[in-house]
Amino acid sequence: MKKAILTSLISACIIFPTVYLTACNKNNDVTVETKSTVVQGKTMGTFYQVNVVGGYKGGEDGLKALAEGAFAKITKAISTFDKDAELYKFNDFKSTEPFKISDDLSVMIQNTVYQGRRIEGATDISVGPLVNLWGFGKDKKDGNKPSQEQIEETLKLVGQDKFEVLLKEDGAYLVKHDPNVRLDLATVGEGLGADFVAELLIKEGYQNFMVNVAGASRSYGKNAKGKVWKLGIEDPTSKQRKVYTAICALDKAVTTAGSYRNYFKDETSGKIYSHAIDPKTGYPVAHQTMSVTVISDSAFESDALDTGLLVLGADKALAWGEKNQYAIATIEYKDGKTVFRYTDKFKPYLDCAKR
Ligand code: ADP
Ligand code: MG
Repeated sequence: MKKAILTSLISACIIFPTVYLTACNKNNDVTVETKSTVVQGKTMGTFYQVNVVGGYKGGEDGLKALAEGAFAKITKAISTFDKDAELYKFNDFKSTEPFKISDDLSVMIQNTVYQGRRIEGATDISVGPLVNLWGFGKDKKDGNKPSQEQIEETLKLVGQDKFEVLLKEDGAYLVKHDPNVRLDLATVGEGLGADFVAELLIKEGYQNFMVNVAGASRSYGKNAKGKVWKLGIEDPTSKQRKVYTAICALDKAVTTAGSYRNYFKDETSGKIYSHAIDPKTGYPVAHQTMSVTVISDSAFESDALDTGLLVLGADKALAWGEKNQYAIATIEYKDGKTVFRYTDKFKPYLDCAKR
């Protein structure tokens, strides 16, 4: 029975590289098909796709311009790879003097810090120096894992007390309490991108669309076949990309953080280290939780929570979700088996995808 469901789900979902979520927009039992404008491309080192049902007024070129314009604004604020980006410049600024930032970046930072605090500080944007040390930053590298001493030394630069946002009369400033502090907002980039594009489309009056930026998705209304949008959560244990289970997106924001796609391989031990780093220990997550999916009203919020919840692991992530009434699902790999668990609030999204 289960196998049959999986097979039909796989045929209903298109799988893109480097994503944890997959758009399932093909239904077998369908009626009318409306014309859609669908564009896709690359942003923030990953893939995006936007699908506007009924067609976008500016056609593919117009929709691409809308999406890529939105991503460019986000990248300009938070990129740690683009020399012209505000956050890049702040990280490069080796001084503890206040550094002027835009209101947009100030809000992004404050909101991400707030979300991190809700989950024991497990999402912590001051992980920047650890991200670099483990080879996930702009000096991406392979080789040997950092030494314990290096990790301990770097941990001294990490923590929510290592930086602050100052709101002055002439605007916002960012201050680091050590010249080597580096901030990293990569964890919310995809969510911000999905929200931004969705908000622009809503403003323009569109009521049926889906936006996917790698592991972050926002959808509204119905797909081209007049059915609710479906998404596939990837099977993290499979070498080929395949869907583990489908959910209905139901006008919500869905994001998934995974420990299995982007990793560092230690050449000596062959051990694999994920890009989700525990800001308390300085080590990438090494537990059995492979992915965490969070559904909420905002892709930014889901994206700010998912990486931290992945760091905390499935037990804590699910307990937090039950307590705070969030729809959360986790996939673990335990004793050679895949274990899928979810909170009560997640169930309706699964049930509706089976219909
Ligand atoms: P995923 O690809 O799993 O969705 P994201 O792209 O959302 O993950 O975020 C992963 C990135 O976030 C890492 O590459 C790193 O730059 C940064 N990061 C890693 N660990 C943390 C953490 N504990 N808190 C905040 N950011 C983190
Ligand atoms: Mg995230």
